[in-house]
Amino acid sequence: MERFGLIGRKLGHSFSPDIHSMVGGYEYKLYPLEPEELALFLRDTELDGINVTIPYKKDVIPMCRELSPRAKTIGSVNTMLRMTDGSWFGDNTDYYGFVYLLGRDAETLKDKKALVLGSGGASQTVCAVFRELGVSHTVISRTGENNYGNLSLHSDAEIIVNTTPVGMYPNNGESPVNLGRFPRCRLVIDLIYNPTKTALLLQAEELGITARNGLAMLAAQGVKAGELFLGKKSNENLTEEIIECIRRKTESIVLIGMPGCGKTTVAQYLSEITGRKAVDTDMLIYEQTGIRIPEIFSRYGEKHFRELETEALREVSKESGLIIAAGGGVVTVPENRALIRQNSICVFLDSDPSRLDVTDRPISQTKGIKKLLEERMPLYRSWSDRIYKNENSHETAIKIKEDMKL
Ligand code: NAP
Repeated sequence: MERFGLIGRKLGHSFSPDIHSMVGGYEYKLYPLEPEELALFLRDTELDGINVTIPYKKDVIPMCRELSPRAKTIGSVNTMLRMTDGSWFGDNTDYYGFVYLLGRDAETLKDKKALVLGSGGASQTVCAVFRELGVSHTVISRTGENNYGNLSLHSDAEIIVNTTPVGMYPNNGESPVNLGRFPRCRLVIDLIYNPTKTALLLQAEELGITARNGLAMLAAQGVKAGELFLGKKSNENLTEEIIECIRRKTESIVLIGMPGCGKTTVAQYLSEITGRKAVDTDMLIYEQTGIRIPEIFSRYGEKHFRELETEALREVSKESGLIIAAGGGVVTVPENRALIRQNSICVFLDSDPSRLDVTDRPISQTKGIKKLLEERMPLYRSWSDRIYKNENSHETAIKIKEDMKL
């Protein structure tokens, strides 16, 4: 069996093994390397081909005896093939990945004005594609002539592409620019794919701007690399199948709903039948503070509890593939909405008010269920992507699993 792999410095969260297992028919492993190990690794490895990621896409160029015209123009290599004489051939499949990500939009972008944030390897790839499509583009670099201090010169930008790592896991929530400064912007692309929606993409959604993440590019460049490794074309639906598979695997489910509606129980059942980890934000707060929730309310008040809840949600909502049972009042803090949306499908468990369990539920007891329902029902509905009537937690969990193909 032929053997391939990925080299880079930090590879812990790479999706490449998943992608290449779906391309199929070969072994694919991760090889994290320190800079001083790179040359020796490329000389001695018995791999038949290699993918290259941050920070080595330029560094490997002198180690290739031949480059594809595309890799040469872009000045960056992400796929290397071992030639029969033992030397390396360097190619760039990120180019195809970005073209795939643009999809049909590519035909409509000619003469539009784009800003490309960042000037590294991915930026060079994006600029090469834009040059071929006739997109007028400016690179914004922290140290360049066009920088984040004079963005007002480009307030007429219609497309913004983020090629910086700003907002990437674990630094979720950071955004390289404020989109409010670009009133003509109609398309925002973030090459980041973890989280699913960066703060930049969430801003775009809020403003009604078309927003795309980098997952399609990642999948398409991987499929193209697999084709180069095997020397044959893959089936034409493979890229879409990979995108769907990674999306499903990485998306978390956040359960919201009235206190006592069964979120914790449904989360536990879902965890049992899907093998995904269940996390309960109330439980997390208890583990972190050592104080039970009713006591936090009585000793420190609701505001303090909400702050603890937002912090707990900030941490868990970054992670991928979880089942998260949120507190009933999570929807009373607007900031929590973006935290939920960044990586998750939000599911509202709607339960008959007469069935709500108010034991140990401080707000249900002080405010009363009727008032709480009035305040929160519109929020549960507007925050959720899906609504399930929860009459039997076990059946609800099975239905969610089946509907979402978890
Ligand atoms: P890179 O070569 O290190 O370039 C990143 C650039 O971002 C830097 O050159 C820098 O440009 C800018 N930058 C870095 N830190 C910054 C900060 N704190 N604030 C503002 N700007 C900063 O990395 P790359 O290979 O181009 O990758 C960049 C991003 O694209 C990563 O998040 C990577 O995961 C993603 N990517 C995705 C795909 C995909 O398939 N979806 C493919 C390739 C890359 P200046 O110094 O000019 O500001």
